[in-house]
Amino acid sequence: MHVAIIGAGYAGMAAAAELAARGVRVSVFEASRTLGGRARRVEAHGHPLDNGQHILVGAYAELLRLMRLVGADPQALLERLPLSLLYPGRMALRAPRLPAPLHLAAALFAAKGLSFGARLAAVGFMRAMRQADFRLARDISFDALMARHGQHDTAIRYLWAPLCVSALNTPPSEASAQVFLNVLRDSLAARREASDLLLARTDFSALFPEPAERFLLARGGELLRGSAIRSIRRDPYGYRLEGDPDRRNYSHVIAAVAPYHLTRLAAGLPRLEPLFEDLAGFAYEPILTAYFGYPQPVTLPAPMVGVGGTAHFLFQRGAAIVSAVVSARGPQLELPREELLARIQAEIAAVAGPSPAPAWTQVIVEKRATFACRPGLRRPAAETPLANFFIAGDYVASDYPATLEAAVRSGVACARLVR
Ligand SMILES: Cc1cc2nc3c(=O)[nH]c(=O)nc-3n(C[C@H](O)[C@H](O)[C@H](O)COP(=O)(O)OP(=O)(O)OC[C@H]3O[C@@H](n4cnc5c(N)ncnc54)[C@H](O)[C@@H]3O)c2cc1C
Repeated sequence: MHVAIIGAGYAGMAAAAELAARGVRVSVFEASRTLGGRARRVEAHGHPLDNGQHILVGAYAELLRLMRLVGADPQALLERLPLSLLYPGRMALRAPRLPAPLHLAAALFAAKGLSFGARLAAVGFMRAMRQADFRLARDISFDALMARHGQHDTAIRYLWAPLCVSALNTPPSEASAQVFLNVLRDSLAARREASDLLLARTDFSALFPEPAERFLLARGGELLRGSAIRSIRRDPYGYRLEGDPDRRNYSHVIAAVAPYHLTRLAAGLPRLEPLFEDLAGFAYEPILTAYFGYPQPVTLPAPMVGVGGTAHFLFQRGAAIVSAVVSARGPQLELPREELLARIQAEIAAVAGPSPAPAWTQVIVEKRATFACRPGLRRPAAETPLANFFIAGDYVASDYPATLEAAVRSGVACARLVR
């Protein structure tokens, strides 16, 4: 048995680690020189930044398990903060260290900036969803869900919509209410630790993909960087990959590339029309991250601060580095670069106090950061009509939106399908 994995993003490296742990022979092919795919290190201005600011939550059980498996200690690499949402001067919600579900009820009841009616409606919404087991008879949009449950404008603006947009990366009018509820069920409505925010102390190549590579190599596997696979062919002995310098046969292939790369990669394989049809139904949403490097420390009032203006959230990235995130489509992405940066700089100064002009800035736009998570979207299964050819990635059928946790779960599921 020899498994080829195409793509060393979080899904591919999860599959590789899981298979290597079982003693299966694995070769990973990665087009880029940097591991991590859509969550990877980008060196800029002498700093190891990322292609985009990422956050994890305590509910990412599979990613945390895999980090431990490959020797990347979550306690050392992640800063764990109790759930808190802070919009300075407008709204503040913080979960106390109480057992679930008291932590959430207390957080909602004590939220500052929400009227008594808004808080009551929010608690009622969570109770109703819990009673319904977080299941909808028919998927609708996030906006329709909020209207159906009488949520107040302020609670939507400062609580539910920011959670929806940061998890689903899809405008609230188009976002799937069912997937939003799946996220609520496993984070806010689960164990208290599941709702914790986890902020990386390192970049996202070093967080998991690079330790996973070391784990793989120590178990006899191989990882070829800068090796783009152009196509996959099947022959009586298994699979061959065009672009594999050794031109070997593989018993199994796991294609762990983004959905928009899969159609071309797998075009030469038979019987995959249903998969290609599903892939044609996907649309994509961008994420913009702007980094501001200052000549002296600039301190935000919390490690993660809601803005809800030009930027959606600001993050303290280091003593003198702040990152700003704009999720999903929106008018911000049309702004001239200078204006975008000036507006965000004013938003940083408004919460951090008078700040010096940044010494450097770096804007990264990922145009196809995630798939648009819309109601009723059909997502393909990991198993394909072709024996021993599997697909892994954040877009593969699951309860979750396009996230690191969805990606690693799908990689692990593929590894388990390899027999
Ligand atoms: C800016 C941004 C911010 C985000 N924020 C968050 C967040 O806060 N929290 C969260 O959980 N998720 C977040 N996400 C989503 C998360 O990053 C993705 O869901 C996840 O990284 C997807 O992993 P993947 O392995 O499925 O795919 P990818 O990361 O796309 O991996 C695919 C890999 O395949 C390689 N590849 C492609 N074609 C070939 C080929 N022909 N041959 C060889 N290699 C190939 C690519 O180079 C890539 O490395 C964010 C994404 C972005 C872009």
